[in-house]
Amino acid sequence: MTATHRLPFRIDAVDPWSGARATTLTTLHGAVETPIFMPVATQAILRHVDTTVATELGYQVLLANTYHLLLRPGTEVLQAFGGIHPFMKWERSVLTDSGGFQIFSLPNHVSLSEERARFRSYVDGAWIDLSPERSIEVQRTIGSDIMMVLDHCVSSTSDLATTRKALELTTRWAKRSLDARADSPQAIFGIVQGGCFPELRKESAEQIVALGFDGYALGGLAVGETKAEREDTTELAAKLLPATQPRYLMGVGTPSDLLEAVRRGMDMFDCIIPTALASQGVCFTSRGKLDLRRGVYRLQETPIDPLCPCSTCSRFSRAYVSHLVKTKEPVAAQLVSVHNLTFYRRLMARMREAILSGTFRELYSKEAELLDSDDVDYPPVGPRKERE
Ligand SMILES: [Zn+2]
Repeated sequence: MTATHRLPFRIDAVDPWSGARATTLTTLHGAVETPIFMPVATQAILRHVDTTVATELGYQVLLANTYHLLLRPGTEVLQAFGGIHPFMKWERSVLTDSGGFQIFSLPNHVSLSEERARFRSYVDGAWIDLSPERSIEVQRTIGSDIMMVLDHCVSSTSDLATTRKALELTTRWAKRSLDARADSPQAIFGIVQGGCFPELRKESAEQIVALGFDGYALGGLAVGETKAEREDTTELAAKLLPATQPRYLMGVGTPSDLLEAVRRGMDMFDCIIPTALASQGVCFTSRGKLDLRRGVYRLQETPIDPLCPCSTCSRFSRAYVSHLVKTKEPVAAQLVSVHNLTFYRRLMARMREAILSGTFRELYSKEAELLDSDDVDYPPVGPRKERE
């Protein structure tokens, strides 16, 4: 299996210690360097900030959602604007999720058959049919660079029979999605399901890879399993996917999850965390996670992260941003989002740099514990070691 003509793919370096990869793929909108984090712009907007921020921070891919865009603004609007890029003023790549995750996450609003999923619209209550063909048709109208097949995701704690049934439907829908892509120049990724059952992941990977996609995603993780189960499944599944194509871990994760998944050979990631936690005033820093709702920041003049070059940290103190968080000013979420998106972007760039320069093991040893720590047990006044 090799890189496809729709998505040229190059491996820039592989870390000998871990198998972590630095790669470059080329979409219709340019080069994408991995490992990469793709901020979530579900409704063609990042939460709290517009696409200018993503451009300034150097993000190369945004993730949008087929199901949500189908309901609002609707395909006729996207068609009128010539797709999502001109609509949201974003010149780089877009990956669209297929709506498969909403079959899982909106269980009270769906009926499922071999043919299609049926949802009730949260906008006007109308019934919406989403088949593999319809999902791809909408993704073609959206004009994303990378489309995803419609899949059937179940909870990672589902039993073996339920998980097997879902992965078998996922394979049949993957074939229909691929056929529906037809002559579109857009790339399409297959999705491997199978929960935390190694034999089912293997089965799913074999079936999906045999269909021949431009890249492969792991679905059905970060939906109820433990961190250890997620890491074991990721490690196993990465080995089941072709080395010469991109590997995308869907819906993951925290900075610590990203480090662990890159270590296990995954290339692409998306998650709502950096902007979703910003709504609560939670920030990621080079010394772990801070919760600005806590009183300990009330008088702190230092920025959220003294090592961060973002526009929030270069201007404002923890005390001030914490004050805005507590008074529930919308601009607080904006300031923290800019910071968190800067943190994620820099973390991925550092990982790529370390893989290219052969120092990923050093980076991993230094960061693994720090990224996982938070401020609950101690006041954040210095590196953890100095305080213990
Ligand atoms: Zn910052």
